[in-house]
Amino acid sequence: MDILLDAQTLVPSKHLSDLLLLGDPRLYERCEPILETELTLLPQIAADLRQVMMEVRAKYHFGRGIAAPQLGYMKRVIYLDTDRPRLLINPSITDRSAEVFELWDDCMCFPHLLVRVQRHQCITVTYFDEHWERRSWNVKNDLSELIQHECDHLEGILCTMRAVNEKAFKWRAQADV
Ligand SMILES: [Zn+2]
Repeated sequence: MDILLDAQTLVPSKHLSDLLLLGDPRLYERCEPILETELTLLPQIAADLRQVMMEVRAKYHFGRGIAAPQLGYMKRVIYLDTDRPRLLINPSITDRSAEVFELWDDCMCFPHLLVRVQRHQCITVTYFDEHWERRSWNVKNDLSELIQHECDHLEGILCTMRAVNEKAFKWRAQADV
């Protein structure tokens, strides 16, 4: 099984206009795990996540990860494209470092807004990969904060809800988009 390979053969059914935007109540809902009997759903979800990420990148020049609920798929699935595309199915953060760091976070659901948040420096995430094999991955820094952001989406948590204080918001500079 290679869900990402199968996804490449499918026509995307979602586009940038399907991306849920800040305020949509579905973004605040907790997502359901993917059951083994639902694996046939995943190639289309993966194709759609990939497509919308590419459209966000083309328009806004950012985007390393996207969670299924951002497209209204209320399932625990994350698509990442950093060094290579990856699917994280039913991810769970099993370990978090005591060390934390702050950053200006962004989100495709409100592409012009930056939010100052605090994230754990290192985490361990366990998940099923695109081959439905169980994985455990230790990540730090950029990947750590990215996966914390995407896993938050699966719990119905946006980075606006993680703001470090009431002034922790800024508009993305025009030069950055
Ligand atoms: Zn987001």
